[in-house]
Amino acid sequence: MTSAAAPLLRLTGVSRTFGEGVSAVTVLRDVELEIERGEMVAIMGPSGSGKSTLMNVLGCLDRASGGRYEIDGQDVASLSDDALAARRRESFGFIFQRYHLMGHLTAQGNVEVPAVYAGTPKAIRASRSAALLERLGLGGHLSHRPSQMSGGQQQRVSIARALMNGGDIILADEPTGALDSHSGLEVMQILRELHARGHTIILVTHDPGVAAWAQRVIEIADGRIVRDRVNDTHQATLTDATARAQCAPSRNDNLDGRTPIVATTEPHRSSTGWMSGWPTFSESLSMAWHALASHRLRTGLTMLGIIIGITSVVSLSAIGEGTKRRVLNDIGNIAPNTITVLRGKDFNDDKAAEIRTLLPRDAALLAAQPYTDSVTPQLGPRTARMRFGRLDTDAQVHGEGADFMRANGLKLARGRSFDASEVERQAQVALLGENTLKKLMPNGGDPVGQIVLAGSLPLRIIGVVRDRSSMFVSRSLNVYVPWTTVASRLAGQQHLESITVRILDGHPPAAAEAAIIRVLTRAHGQKDFFTFNMDTIVKSISRTSQMLTLLLSFVALISLVVGGIGVMNIMLVSVTERTREIGIRRAIGARRQDILRQFLIEAVLVCLMGGAVGVALSYAIGWLVATFVPQVAVVFSARTFTAAVACACVIGVVSGWWPARSAARLDPVDALARE
Ligand code: ADP
Ligand code: MG
Repeated sequence: MTSAAAPLLRLTGVSRTFGEGVSAVTVLRDVELEIERGEMVAIMGPSGSGKSTLMNVLGCLDRASGGRYEIDGQDVASLSDDALAARRRESFGFIFQRYHLMGHLTAQGNVEVPAVYAGTPKAIRASRSAALLERLGLGGHLSHRPSQMSGGQQQRVSIARALMNGGDIILADEPTGALDSHSGLEVMQILRELHARGHTIILVTHDPGVAAWAQRVIEIADGRIVRDRVNDTHQATLTDATARAQCAPSRNDNLDGRTPIVATTEPHRSSTGWMSGWPTFSESLSMAWHALASHRLRTGLTMLGIIIGITSVVSLSAIGEGTKRRVLNDIGNIAPNTITVLRGKDFNDDKAAEIRTLLPRDAALLAAQPYTDSVTPQLGPRTARMRFGRLDTDAQVHGEGADFMRANGLKLARGRSFDASEVERQAQVALLGENTLKKLMPNGGDPVGQIVLAGSLPLRIIGVVRDRSSMFVSRSLNVYVPWTTVASRLAGQQHLESITVRILDGHPPAAAEAAIIRVLTRAHGQKDFFTFNMDTIVKSISRTSQMLTLLLSFVALISLVVGGIGVMNIMLVSVTERTREIGIRRAIGARRQDILRQFLIEAVLVCLMGGAVGVALSYAIGWLVATFVPQVAVVFSARTFTAAVACACVIGVVSGWWPARSAARLDPVDALARE
């Protein structure tokens, strides 16, 4: 390759222009510069002369607008963004005037970052960063945060960071600019020692005293190199400075020129093996965790959006599911799978009352059908004045057959039902609904065996029927009496008004209904009746309740979307707020995809944590509701849970992707410039 002959860095006719058209500002003009390996060069010039711009071009933080820049004979313009990141990571070590440490990381954490992006294993990273900090006199400050350290200490941390991956070429932009003279001196001593150990040092300064440390001083004015000279005072300054340093009280300073700063300054630039990797997933995860943990308020606010969204989705769909099940259960309570035969064409047929063809033998006929579970011939209900002792009330008297409990799906609360022989002999017995019982015997006591009057007809109470608990059936007052008794003693008629047939479980109700119509039409010679299928009602009610669930889910979804937008908003703001951090990470070698990954993982992590809290909160709400508002049913399903987790992930990715992309797209120099 050309590297044997080519200088380490060579700029040929390099210019840098910011902006376009009339607002274009040319900061560097026609810069010709060669820097050899192992040199220590100071770039001097007044403020605004283009020193930092030149430095950024040299360090691959910025690209030249014109001319050619070669590193080791390789044209930088031909390098991809990732290759430039690799250069920054493996060849260069940056030292900034304002240190540019990350506030949420410890000293050691900061020093390790370039190695994280280089894929160095954790253990090696830890020992190397600790050794570097130790050598730089910060052995006792490994776990200090930047805010707990002085400027000089922070600058030494940043030097350690620059050396972490080897730091062959150290680029220091006004490294002493923000330091007091003592700390400045320490930093210069370190740089000089690094130079002595073979590092190439390029130093920007406007201070001649600092420039005096270098062998070669390049002066720049108005974007042009105006002077490039070998520093003849170099040696003298060195001796002078060494003498001063030896006199200076430096407690933490073990840089006496004999202790090597870096145990291993051998280049870590190999692009194979563990150095070529990038942060592993668990590495990225722990970085994300640190970033989140160090910005609690922001993380909390982001999570809040997700928590609200997930909580509403999970608890609303649990309530929706519960309501649906309760509705279905209630329908099951209203009646089992029954078909009722009534007289006339339909419910509005005003001639129905005159039809006398529905007879007990029809009930017997239907009872014999293969699909029939049970049948009850019915008469009524008739409203009658019920009297018991001094109390009385209107109630619905139902004339029923012996099988009515089973056919109607009713349950006995007390006593017994009447049997076929009692129906046969028109026994004056009655079963009271619980509501009726409460009306007539409000003080409790055993009603069985007592006599009530229905109008003027005395009836012996033989049992109590449980009223259906349902949101659809009004709290009616029911009394059940053998239909024959109602026929002869109350209604004065011998024909039936309806027959309820309970269909065997598993038998298709529609087929049974068609068969009933066929059988009865043949028996009557005409169709003077109509049927009423409970199954149809059940279906339409469950459809309604499904609509309700859907509506609830929709409301929940909206709050989830709103939560997601909130997350995205905060993520966007956080990217803006963290631009400097992104700039630092890019400057020390993070690739675009590393930044993208970091922000995505942060977003997904926030959303998953928010989702977990949301699910927990939903369960708590569900428990509270179930405990204190028993009317509302809450049913959590695995589906709801999975959906919530999936939602959280999707929101995380979607809301994280956009800000992450805009963060990753930033040029390192632009990101760094934004304070
Ligand atoms: P120095 O480091 O020597 O003080 P800089 O290299 O930072 O100077 O800047 C040189 C000139 O370029 C200044 O006038 C500055 O305003 C201008 N400049 C630097 N960066 C930009 C930029 N991104 N856009 C426009 N002008 C810039
Ligand atoms: Mg500058």
